[in-house]
Amino acid sequence: MQVFGLVGNPVEHSLSPPMHEAAYAELGLDARYVTFEPSRADLATAIRGAEALGVAGLNVTIPFKQDVLSLVDADDLATRIGAVNTIDFSGEAVTGHNTDVAGVRRSFSYHDVPLAGQDAVVVGAGGAGRAGAFALADAGSNVDIANRTVETAEAVAADVGPAASPHSLDDLPGLLDDADVLVNATSVGMEEDRSPVPADALHGELAVLDAVYSPLRTKLLRDADAAGATTIDGAWMLLFQGVAAFELWTGHDAPVPSMNEALRDRL
Ligand code: NAP
Repeated sequence: MQVFGLVGNPVEHSLSPPMHEAAYAELGLDARYVTFEPSRADLATAIRGAEALGVAGLNVTIPFKQDVLSLVDADDLATRIGAVNTIDFSGEAVTGHNTDVAGVRRSFSYHDVPLAGQDAVVVGAGGAGRAGAFALADAGSNVDIANRTVETAEAVAADVGPAASPHSLDDLPGLLDDADVLVNATSVGMEEDRSPVPADALHGELAVLDAVYSPLRTKLLRDADAAGATTIDGAWMLLFQGVAAFELWTGHDAPVPSMNEALRDRL
């Protein structure tokens, strides 16, 4: 039996176990997906221990995505972003990858939204904002990053490179006028029924991805629907980061509909 898992703190409410185990059931793989909650002080020992025990792969979530970078052989993308969310133990070296970027990119491609040559706006510059900005820039979009703390947007834009520019939240209406793609990567909309974007700045030419997945129909997505925009909820991003990790670990095409159903059943 192969063992996969998730390392983070806390992880008890994670949706990854049912999502991955739906894929194992669908493809008849003898595998399990379990969660681990080490302390930060024990993280390096936990990863070496997983390797020694023959764990096949680990996802990594908050608060360890940056810490893991120095504990594995991180690939180019994970190194550029500065965060690892997937560890692969199958090769000679223990390798680190970032499938959050694929989560953003594949959410758009699954909904037939092109990214090459598009004008994109990312609101937020934390972990999800970095993944969004790198995904969109690497796919060929020009990316405007708007954040409450402008200095953080400046740091992310500098890491992404010339395709990205930093802004304050006040710039959003002007930026959205000509934009094709919008990603909300702030936590606004999660605790309260609020949107980080003024409703009257949205329009029908936009494709809007909200990284928030609880609730699924955020105020931003309801406002975007009302403006005639294409809307993509945060469960798609969560799904496709898991799909990309599954495919990296197993070499199989992921059974996306089964994984999606298992995820949405629990949201
Ligand atoms: P994070 O690193 O803590 O970043 C939070 C971001 O939200 C920062 O840009 C922060 O701005 C901004 N923010 C927080 N409160 C705000 C407010 N009241 N007004 C304006 N901006 C505010 O968090 P994260 O990991 O990037 O997660 C952000 C959201 O994405 C969460 O809802 C999380 O659940 C979701 N997420 C979803 C997925 C998925 O797969 N769907 C993956 C990762 C994260 P400052 O820099 O100014 O503090």
